[in-house]
Amino acid sequence: MRRDETLRMTTYGNIFQLLLERVSEDAGWVLQIVHNTRGAGLTEAELVAELDQARVSGVQRHLKNLEDLGLVVCVESIWKTTWTGAGVSNWRTQLLSAEEGQTVAEPREGENGHHPGPECNEFRAALFSPGYCWCCRPRNKHSSEAIKAAERLLKQR
Ligand SMILES: [Zn+2]
Repeated sequence: MRRDETLRMTTYGNIFQLLLERVSEDAGWVLQIVHNTRGAGLTEAELVAELDQARVSGVQRHLKNLEDLGLVVCVESIWKTTWTGAGVSNWRTQLLSAEEGQTVAEPREGENGHHPGPECNEFRAALFSPGYCWCCRPRNKHSSEAIKAAERLLKQR
C-alpha cells in the first residue's frame, strides 16, 4: 500500500485531517513548501523553481486549489499559509513522521502547532517540532509533566 493511501485511511477526525483529505499529494507538497519558507518571502516564480526541484508541477493550479480551501493567501505577490493552512501542513507532517501503525497526538481546538495555543496541561508530542507539544510549548512547561518527573524522582529514592 502506498503511503498516501495509508494516510487517507486514518480515522482521525480533526479539522486539519478533513481538509487534508481534500488536498492532492502534490498540493500537499506545495503547502509544505509555502509553510516552511514562511518569512523567506518567496515570490511565486521562486516558489515554482523551488518546487521544480522537488519535481512538483502545476504549482499555480495547486496554489489556487489551496487558496480556495483557505489554506494559503497571496499578499503582495508573496504566498503564505493561513492559520488553518499552517495547521494542515503540520498535521500532514505529523502523519508522515509517524512510524507505521503509530497513533499520533492530535491538535485540540485553538491549536495549529505553529502559533501558541490555549493553556495546556497534557503534553502531546508534535512530531513536526520535536520536543514540543501541539500547544507549542516544550514538555517541561506542562504541569502534568512536572508531576510525572517528581514521581520518577521519588521512586528512585
Ligand atoms: Zn501542550
